[in-house]
Amino acid sequence: MRSWWSKIFGDSSALCWFCQSPRPKVIGNPIWEQLCAGCTEKRKMLAYPQCRVCGKPNSIDDSFCYDCQRTPESDRVVNISCVEYNHWARLVVQQWKYRGDERLSRPMGLWMASLIKQRFLHMDRFMITYVPCHRKRVYERGFDQAKQLAHIIGAQLHVPVVDLLVRQSYQDQPQSKRSRDQRLQALVGTFSYQGKQMDSSGQSVLLVDDVYTTGSTVRECAKLLRKANFQPVACTFARTNSEYV
Ligand SMILES: [Zn+2]
Ligand SMILES: [Zn+2]
Repeated sequence: MRSWWSKIFGDSSALCWFCQSPRPKVIGNPIWEQLCAGCTEKRKMLAYPQCRVCGKPNSIDDSFCYDCQRTPESDRVVNISCVEYNHWARLVVQQWKYRGDERLSRPMGLWMASLIKQRFLHMDRFMITYVPCHRKRVYERGFDQAKQLAHIIGAQLHVPVVDLLVRQSYQDQPQSKRSRDQRLQALVGTFSYQGKQMDSSGQSVLLVDDVYTTGSTVRECAKLLRKANFQPVACTFARTNSEYV
């Protein structure tokens, strides 16, 4: 039986969901607080105000950031992210994605679900889809990461998850290692739409991905979803907070 002390001040047996170090446990604390002191110090929440489109922290207000000003209005996609893609977030994503640590999907997905609930509550009817991996990549890694996040978010928010996109080309080099121009070039024809054509416009769809860097992947997928009469918005676990790379 737990002591009155641990009921009030926490249970020292709780572990950080990322590095497995002991952490204080307080009943009901959100997933971003279920980290050890070291991870809490290293993770960086995205400051407000943010660009009203892509979620990049702005110093003054929620006006369009420089990146979004350069993007044609019809291509802009509203994106929200949980954390800044700093050294800590990169370690989380690397361990999850490249070392195949599937256990991280759940805390990452719960974190995203909580942000979606807070920011996209006004969307009364929406479905969830994701930026898919190529089938060869799924075979190599053992799971489709964004799909797994989408299903965790869907289950948490009671929202259906649909497979709408398919990745056609298999990249031997991860997007994160490419320059901006190489990235844009490599994305042409990468995805195709595989869902049904929607009868009426106005169906909101939430596009899930792990990292938002330049936003080019999200915009490319959103383009296909718009063609099928969806209204896409995006949620990514982490986003960079620097100028275009
Ligand atoms: Zn930790
Ligand atoms: Zn922006």
